[in-house]
Amino acid sequence: MVRYYLLRVATQITHHERGVRYFKAKVFYFSFYCINIVMKYILYSMVAVLFVVSGEDGMARSLTTYREKRDFKKTKEPAGRKKAGNKQPIFVIQQHAARAMHYDVRLQIGGVLVSWAVPKGPSLNPKTKRLAVMTEDHPMEYAKFEGIIPKGEYGAGPVIVWDRGTYKNIREKDGKLVPMETCLKTGQIEIFLRGKKIKGGFSLIRMRGTTGAKSQWLLIKKKDEYADARRNPVSSEPESVKTRKTIQDWKQKIKAMEKRKSE
Ligand code: MN
Repeated sequence: MVRYYLLRVATQITHHERGVRYFKAKVFYFSFYCINIVMKYILYSMVAVLFVVSGEDGMARSLTTYREKRDFKKTKEPAGRKKAGNKQPIFVIQQHAARAMHYDVRLQIGGVLVSWAVPKGPSLNPKTKRLAVMTEDHPMEYAKFEGIIPKGEYGAGPVIVWDRGTYKNIREKDGKLVPMETCLKTGQIEIFLRGKKIKGGFSLIRMRGTTGAKSQWLLIKKKDEYADARRNPVSSEPESVKTRKTIQDWKQKIKAMEKRKSE
């Protein structure tokens, strides 16, 4: 009987002790759980703040590749220090007689000129698809560049400002305008150009399986009142909208310069 009683007391103590230990463990794990949540919250808000800061200027695109390719002591092309204003975005089409003749189509996006090399230049015929190969982003001042990139330099040869003006983003999804940075990422750009030679809606569509720096796109005229299968400004309007000079004029100038040097 006594033995039984003692045993009961002993087990009760044990029960009691176990309960206390269990409660302490519970408190410990609960506080751990709370701290964990708070830390996660702090970490996530820090990441969010970083995102907002880095995305302040649109998508914070970089001119590093552009600068690496050029020696600004030798070429008159701009190094790019000016920041873009918040007026209407601009576009420029520069005819460039490098190793192969092409037209550089550039759109102001995120403070730089996002660029494509279009070998045949833009067409006003909605049935014509023109290949556009993405090239490195250029600085805003490049839109005004016309002249000669010296021999031995990247893209050596004459450049003219073939057309320029402002553009409007017209890509919509569910009745809302899609930001240009998003259009770039998804490879679906729709714009309305207001140039001197080129006007109206255009699509720039990235081809499947191509991404990044040298991705391949198609430049296609949209069907609107500015579409015109007969007009071909690439051949009928070759002169610069800045100086009225043609690529041929600049080529002759280069020849004359070289002749003078060799004499
Ligand atoms: Mn070029």
